[in-house]
Amino acid sequence: MFEPHGGKLINRLLTPAEGGDLKKRASALPSLTLNAREASDLRMISIGAFSPLEGFMSSADYRGVVERAALSNGLPWTIPITLSTDRATADRLKPGVEAALKSPDGALLGSMTVEDKHTYDKVREVQNVFRATDEAHPGVANVMKQGEVLLGGKIKAFEQKPLPIYAASDRTPAQTRALFKEKGWNTAVGFQTRNPIHRAHEYIMKCALELVDGLMVHPLVGETKAGDTDAEVRMRCYHALLDRYYPPGRTLLSTFPAFMRYAGPKEAVFHAICRKNYGCTHFIVGRDHAGVGTYYGSYDAQKIFGEFDAAAIGIRPMFFENSFYCRTCGNMGTAKTCPHGEADRVSLSGTKVREMLAAGQRPPSEFTRPEVADILIEAARATK
Ligand SMILES: [Zn+2]
Repeated sequence: MFEPHGGKLINRLLTPAEGGDLKKRASALPSLTLNAREASDLRMISIGAFSPLEGFMSSADYRGVVERAALSNGLPWTIPITLSTDRATADRLKPGVEAALKSPDGALLGSMTVEDKHTYDKVREVQNVFRATDEAHPGVANVMKQGEVLLGGKIKAFEQKPLPIYAASDRTPAQTRALFKEKGWNTAVGFQTRNPIHRAHEYIMKCALELVDGLMVHPLVGETKAGDTDAEVRMRCYHALLDRYYPPGRTLLSTFPAFMRYAGPKEAVFHAICRKNYGCTHFIVGRDHAGVGTYYGSYDAQKIFGEFDAAAIGIRPMFFENSFYCRTCGNMGTAKTCPHGEADRVSLSGTKVREMLAAGQRPPSEFTRPEVADILIEAARATK
């Protein structure tokens, strides 16, 4: 079951002894301050979520990912995992040197052995990864702000303590794998989300769960763009929904501490590969997965899987169309299963839903469960 990407689950967490030793040596090491994305990537590498990566990408892996969507060993990989710095800092770091890695507020996060440094073409990267060069795209803007030189090399990191709201759902890939085994799941589907779950997503998750042993609801809780619902509010929504409407023995709520890139199709493949590392055998890809604005076609994130060798990806994507409640059918469906038209469907735009919640109104229960609506109304009231 559940082979990690590349065959081996990576663990680059510092042991207590190694951590104590690093703390003593850190002040004598050159130090690099990571931005929020890099700090999130460091954590993801250290827990094995990015297996087989053991550190930030070397120039060979970086070029492979940007040009061919593959690591230098040929394994599919679609998103660069990089650490950038300015030229002066890079010039001071000799190959083989160990650097202390710090968070934006100065906390020691771990260390890296600098194996490789290289300049890169940002425009080429964003064109190939995001299919966009426009800095209105939040993922493109982040790349364009990076330093001029990329540093590659293996890392080691301290375990990061989750905020209390996530504590019960914070699991490494090794832990979710062990849980799936304990629950007797031979097959498990992962569901990525960065939004509150409305009925449409509940429906596709449950369609998927009809076909496999278990479901891992795997919300991204790393940084998202302004305007997305706060992760803490979302966690309350997920708990409310799962407690009442999902079978506990066949459902697991676990957090995915990744940084959101909004790279659409390329990020859909990346999200699938990460969930393979967490032990999932299947992964749900819905409409406009990991998209933003109108940069990607509604089903581009599904089509891209056709460009890869399915065996090399190793986790089976499950594609779903936009779903809705149909008044004539009297149930949830999609254009694949419901013959009726728009007029029969309970559908609301994101803007309309936000307006209703801000006004203290529950959307129709065919659209949002009342338990979820009430949490979102309360959150909207609190931010007014
Ligand atoms: Zn219908």
